[in-house]
Amino acid sequence: MKFGFDIDDTLINLREHAFHLYNKKLDQNIGLNIFHSLKTVEIHEPFGLTAEEGWQMWNSLLEEIYYTTCPPFPYAVETLNELVEQGHEIYYITSRPKVHGERTKKWMIENGFRVKDGHFFYGMNDEEKVHIIEELGLDYFFDDKPAVLETLIHRPVKAFAKDTSYNQHLQLPRIFCWSELKKIMKNS
Ligand SMILES: [Mg+2]
Repeated sequence: MKFGFDIDDTLINLREHAFHLYNKKLDQNIGLNIFHSLKTVEIHEPFGLTAEEGWQMWNSLLEEIYYTTCPPFPYAVETLNELVEQGHEIYYITSRPKVHGERTKKWMIENGFRVKDGHFFYGMNDEEKVHIIEELGLDYFFDDKPAVLETLIHRPVKAFAKDTSYNQHLQLPRIFCWSELKKIMKNS
């Protein structure tokens, strides 16, 4: 089978990692309960930042956000490696900007994910992911972002939402933890 995965907030806990960095940078101590109640993908609001200021903060910290110690979600690395061992094909499809594509791929490999040549796509818009997914003929695709998931409803791919506070309104099957993937494959 062919499996596709978004990276940020699907396989790795990027927004929470960034939330800690915002707290540090702004000398604040806003709790994770606030983080877990956010209804937006963006995280600037609890810090009292406007969208514009939030965008600037994100970009000023981008190096640290992307390339330091962002943890993969529990069981993500193990589960994907198990799929590879079982002979499944794994594709990574991230909308991180083109200029960060190759470095991100390297970071993923350094953090335990196996990435085959030609199986790593980056630099597309949210609405463009569906075209790559369909050209590759993926059986399964996992993402957290409503703007992406909305394009996958009623498509042949079995799309799953990685459960988050900002995608609760979507009527799609969800995965809460990567340890559930085997059960999902059996039941779908
Ligand atoms: Mg994502």
